[in-house]
Amino acid sequence: MRDVVIIGSGCAGLTAAIYTGRANLNPLVIEGREAGGQLSLTTLVENFPGFPEGVQGPELIQRMKDQAARFGTGYKAGDVTAADLSKSPFTLTVDGEPIQTRTLIVASGASARWLGLDSEKALVGKGVSSCATCDGFFFRDKKVMVVGGGDSAMEESIFLTRFASHVNVVHRREQFRASKIMLDRARSNDKIGFTLNTVVEDIADPAQNEVTGVKLKNVKTQKTMEEDVSAVFVAIGHIPNTGIFRGQLDMDSDGYLITRPAPQTNVPGVFACGDVQDRIFRQAITASGTGCMAAMAAERFLETEAPPGK
Ligand code: NAP
Repeated sequence: MRDVVIIGSGCAGLTAAIYTGRANLNPLVIEGREAGGQLSLTTLVENFPGFPEGVQGPELIQRMKDQAARFGTGYKAGDVTAADLSKSPFTLTVDGEPIQTRTLIVASGASARWLGLDSEKALVGKGVSSCATCDGFFFRDKKVMVVGGGDSAMEESIFLTRFASHVNVVHRREQFRASKIMLDRARSNDKIGFTLNTVVEDIADPAQNEVTGVKLKNVKTQKTMEEDVSAVFVAIGHIPNTGIFRGQLDMDSDGYLITRPAPQTNVPGVFACGDVQDRIFRQAITASGTGCMAAMAAERFLETEAPPGK
């Protein structure tokens, strides 16, 4: 029987582990399939406070992991395949093995949706990115591409014009999912161009370990073309990792957990933090901040509602 189990080992989960560890609660972190979360997919992180020279994403995560381990955090590799939150203690199934816990912190994140190309996979962190805020800075005076037709694609392309010499938005249809105001803002920006009814067929060049260009196909004419760009920002949505909680935890229509008030879910003793409950900010520092909130709320819950041994 555990006092605290944390699902997810990105910066939200690891911050929750540092805080609950320092509260002597011996948290157990279930690391998940994408251990380390989205930070482990990025290279240089320059906006996490305390690192004036920047820090590599995987190093930042490893440091958080070591810090949490120092205060008694245990780690378990594997994925939670089932959760029973209908009664306390809660029961999780991790690779077939049951784990019981008095409180649960859900920090399972949201996975960026990718195009699914082999070349895209090979170049993630090397010019292919799902986060303009994180990586836009590295493409000063370069031509870049944004894929998508929603608000994220518009927001990312507008942000990228601060650095890039030109931003081409490639969208598979003619109609946009983006709100009119965001679309108008992008359309009125001189640095932003649009290529519609077009999909990305391939990204060059995995052999050079950097993005040098993109092969595009117009889905109406079937014509292909090549375009030189230094980066591809894939902004085609995120998928919150909440499938196992469907029917148990309140979530919005896209599957993001609803915390009201944050970090409390609708089940007493279950808290949520990081991208799994945040579709707006999605930053390492905001994920860490909510991880701290979830840890303190779990600690208080254990003190008042479920003291150990009861
Ligand atoms: P979204 O609204 O779901 O849009 C995703 C876009 O990606 C769509 O245009 C979709 O094309 C395209 N897409 C999906 N899969 C694709 C694929 N495999 N290949 C090529 N294109 C693909 O996602 P989002 O833009 O991330 O926005 C999510 C939510 O957050 C929305 O509710 C949005 O309003 C909100 N948001 C708001 C703001 C803001 O207001 N500042 C900023 C960001 C996000 P189709 O249209 O053809 O399906």
